[in-house]
Amino acid sequence: MPRLPAHRFRPWIWPLLAALAVAGCWAHAYWRAEQVRAAAVESARRDLVHHVEAFELYLTRSVAQIDQLSMQLKEGWEQGGGRLALEGWYRDGMLADPAHAAIAIYDATGKLVGRAGRHADNGPPVSFVFHRDHRSPALRIVVPEGTVQANQPLVQFTRRLDDARHGYGGLVALTVDARYLTSFYNPAVLGDTGLLAVLGDAGALRLEAHGEQVRLGAGGSLFSTAPDLGGAKGGTQFDGTAFYDRSARLLSWKRSGAYPLLAVAGMTAERALAPARADWNRRRGRALWLSALIVLLGATATGHSLGLRRERRRRDEERQAYRIATEQGSDGFYLAAAVRDAAGAVCDFEVTDCNARGAFFYGFERQQLIGRRISTLDRALFGEALLPVYLAAMTAGSHEDERQMGTVNIGWGRRRITRVGDSLAITLQDVSERKSHERDVERLTLHDLLTGLPNRQWLARELPRRLAAAGERDGTLAVLLVDLDDFKQVNDTLGHGAGDRLLRMAAERIGALLRPGDRLARMGGDEFVLLVDPAADDGETAALAGRVLAALAGPASASADLQRIEASVGIAVFPRDGTDHETLLRHADIAMASGKNERKGHYRFFDPSQFVLLSARAHLKHSLAAAIDAGQLSLHYQVRVDVVSERPVSMEALSRWQHATLGMVPPSQFIPLAESSGLINRLGELVMRQACAQLAAWRAAGLPLLPVSINVSPHQFGYGSVSGQLARALAEHAVDPGLLEVEITESAMVSEQADVQAELGAIRALGVRVFVDDFGTGYSSLSQLQRLRLDGLKVDQAFTRELDRSREGRVFFQAIVSMAGALGMVVVAEGVETPRQLELLRELGCQQAQGYLLGRPVPAAAMAELLAAGEGTGRLANPVIMLSH
Ligand code: C2E
Ligand code: MG
Ligand code: MG
Repeated sequence: MPRLPAHRFRPWIWPLLAALAVAGCWAHAYWRAEQVRAAAVESARRDLVHHVEAFELYLTRSVAQIDQLSMQLKEGWEQGGGRLALEGWYRDGMLADPAHAAIAIYDATGKLVGRAGRHADNGPPVSFVFHRDHRSPALRIVVPEGTVQANQPLVQFTRRLDDARHGYGGLVALTVDARYLTSFYNPAVLGDTGLLAVLGDAGALRLEAHGEQVRLGAGGSLFSTAPDLGGAKGGTQFDGTAFYDRSARLLSWKRSGAYPLLAVAGMTAERALAPARADWNRRRGRALWLSALIVLLGATATGHSLGLRRERRRRDEERQAYRIATEQGSDGFYLAAAVRDAAGAVCDFEVTDCNARGAFFYGFERQQLIGRRISTLDRALFGEALLPVYLAAMTAGSHEDERQMGTVNIGWGRRRITRVGDSLAITLQDVSERKSHERDVERLTLHDLLTGLPNRQWLARELPRRLAAAGERDGTLAVLLVDLDDFKQVNDTLGHGAGDRLLRMAAERIGALLRPGDRLARMGGDEFVLLVDPAADDGETAALAGRVLAALAGPASASADLQRIEASVGIAVFPRDGTDHETLLRHADIAMASGKNERKGHYRFFDPSQFVLLSARAHLKHSLAAAIDAGQLSLHYQVRVDVVSERPVSMEALSRWQHATLGMVPPSQFIPLAESSGLINRLGELVMRQACAQLAAWRAAGLPLLPVSINVSPHQFGYGSVSGQLARALAEHAVDPGLLEVEITESAMVSEQADVQAELGAIRALGVRVFVDDFGTGYSSLSQLQRLRLDGLKVDQAFTRELDRSREGRVFFQAIVSMAGALGMVVVAEGVETPRQLELLRELGCQQAQGYLLGRPVPAAAMAELLAAGEGTGRLANPVIMLSH
C-alpha cells in the first residue's frame, strides 16, 4: 500500500487560510489606499494653500493697481476743479488694459461728466448714494446693476470725489471685466470643477469662477449656505451639502492684507482624490486577481486534502478491517513503508501499522512500534539481518522463511513478506511449538533407541557437514566402520536379549575411548561408525582402531554369556579415500569386509585393490548362486585307505565348480564366499543330495559301494537342521546311512553351543558317522571330543607334512593317535604324499590315510572305474563291514 504523506493540516484549514489570505490582501490594499488617499488629500490641500496665497497676491496687486489709478483720477479731477480730460488718460495708456472696460466720472447729482472706454453708460453706480452719504475716501467695489444677468460680468471700483469745499463732488468709477480678477483660475491646479472666488465684506462682493464660468453676486454662487471662512487664512473640507452641485470640496482662503477681500480657492474632493482613486483602482484590480488566485489555490488544496483524507480514511478502514481480521488470528501483522533517500533509493522502512499480536512479539504496545524505523530497531531487537531481508523482499516482491527470533515473546517465527506498492506487508507466525516438536522428532529420528547413540540418519546429515568443514580447513577426517564379528550367531544362538546387551556393551566400550571431536554412531545391526575429526595421521588412527578392538575384546562383562566381542574395523580417510560421505562409508565398508574375509578381529585401511577384489568377489558370489541354482557344482571323490592293507575304506566328496570363464574354481575360494554370503546352506544341501544320488547310481550300476564322506561347514548349523537335510537326502535315494560320513572342521567343535552338540548327536543318531576335519588347527579339548562321541579325527595335512621333517611332528602325531585310541576314535592322516609318510603312519599306529600318494580327487566316472577295478581285486569287498568297529 503506497504511503500517504503525513498530514498536519485538516482539509478545512485550506478555506480558512485562503480567507485569511484574501482578507490580508484586501486589508493591505485598503490600508495602502488609505495612505495614498491621505497623501492625496494632503497634497491637494498644499496645492490649494499655495494657489490661494498666489491668488491673494495677484488679487491685492490687481486691486492696488486699480486703487492707484482711481487715486490718480481723483487727484486729477480735484485739481482740475471738477474737470478731467479722461480721453487723454485713456490715450496716454493709463487705461490701456482691456480689462478696464471703462472709466466714468459722475458729478454730485449723478450726472455723467466724463467717460472713456468701451463700456456704455448705465447710470451712476450703486455706490453713488454711499459715497454721497459717507466721506470715506476708500475705494469701493461693487457689481454694476444688471451685470449679474448679462453675459459680461463686470466689477466697478468707485471712489468719492470731493469738491473744492470738501463737499460731495461725485465719484469716479472704474468698470473692470470680472474675468480680469478671476483669470488666475488655473484648471491644471483646480480642475474643471474647481472654484476661485473673491468675497467682499458683508456680501459687498461675490465673484466666483467655476471652471470657465464666472459668476457674480449671490445668485450665481455655488455655495448653498454661507461658508464659515473665518480668520486671515485657512483651509478645510466642506461636504456636498455646502454646495449646490452637491460636490464636496476642499477650500482654502486668504484675506487680502490691503483690501477687505477674501481670496478663496476650492477643489472638488473628487479631483483631490483622483490620484488616490486611480491608485485604488489599480490596487483593487491587483487584490481581485490575487484573491481569485488564493481562492483557487485554497479550493484546489481543499479538494486535494479532502481527496487525501477520503483516501486515507478508506485505507484506514481497510487497514482497520485487515487488523481486525488479523487481530483475531494468532499471527503478527506489520506494514512497513519504504523510506527513500535523496536519490530515491529505498534505504529504510517505517512501521506504519501492526496488530497488537505483532507488537506483543517484540514486547511492545502497538503505538510504540508504529512509526519506528526498522534501522532503529535493527540491532536492538531484530539482529543485523532484518533490513537486508526487507530490501531484498522489496526488490524480489516477496520473501518467506523461518527463523529463530531473538526476541522476548516468540522463539521461532515463520514470516511472509509481500511487497504492496511502496510498502511491505509482513505476517509473522509463531511456530515455536511446532519447532520444538520438530526438534523432539528430530532427536528421536536421529538417535538409536537401543544404544542412545546417533544413528544412520544423523550420520547422513553430520558427515557431509563435517566433510565440508574439513575441506575448508584442508584437514583430514577418518571414518572407522566397526563391525562385530559373528553377531548374527550371538543373536541366533543366545537370543535377542543377549544381542542387545552385546550391542550396548560395545557402544559403551567404544564410547569410553572417544576424544574431543570424535563421534560415535550406530549404523544399524552390528555396525558402528566412529568419526575421527580431525584425523592426525594413519599411525594415530590405527592406534585408535587397535584400542577399539582391544576394548571390545576386553575383560568379560558381568553377563556370563558374553565372553568377549570380536570385531573388524575398516578405515577410510578423507580426502585420500573419498571426498563425499557415501564414498567414504562405502570404502570403510570395503576395507572392513576385506579384512573380515582374511582375518577377523583386525582393522584395515582402505586400499583400492580391495575394491577390485571385493567387486570380483561380488561378481563371483552372483555366479556361485546361479551355479548352485543350476546344479553346476559337481563332486570329485578322493579315496581314504587303510594304512596297513592300503585298501580303500571310504571316499571324500569334494566340491568342484567349473566356471564358464574362470575355469575350475577351487573350494578354498568359493567355500568361504558361500559361508560369508549365506549360500553355504544351499550348497551343503546340494552336496548331500548329489552324494546320495551318486551312491544310488553306483548301487544301481551294481558297483561295490564305499562310504562317501561329505564336508559340512559349521556355518550350515546356523540355518536349521543339518541332520534333517541329511535324513531327507538319504531317504530320497534310499541310501543306507552307514554309507554316509560327515566331516566338520575342528573350529565348529569348539563351540559351546548346545544346539550344535545336539545337532551332531542327531546326525550320529541317523547312523551317519562324524569326523573332525582339519584336526589340530583348532583348540578342541579332549573332553569336548569325548562328550561328542565322534567317530574319527582327520589330522590336518600340516601335521602329516611334519612327520618326516621333525621329531616334534612325529611326537605330535603319536599323541593324537594315542588320544584317539583312548577315545575309541579312528585317526585319519590327511595329505599323505610320500611313501615315507605312509610308512611312518603305519609305525605310529595311525589307521587310515588320504592323500595324493593314495589317490587324487577324481570325477565320479573315474571313481566308478576304480570301484569296478577294485571289485576284481577284492580290495573293496564288503567295505561297510570292514569299516564298522
Ligand atoms: P579337506 O576337507 O581337508 O579336504 C582335503 C583337501 O586336501 C582337498 O582339497 C584335497 O584335494 C586336498 N588333498 C588331498 N590329498 C592331498 C595331498 O596329498 N596333498 C595336498 N596338498 N592336498 C591334498 P580341496 O578339494 O581343494 O578342498 C579343500 C577344502 O575345501 C576341503 O578340505 C574342505 O574343507 C573344503 N571342501 C571341499 N568340498 C567341500 C564341500 O562340499 N563342502 C564343504 N563344506 N567343504 C568342502
Ligand atoms: Mg574334508
Ligand atoms: Mg581336511
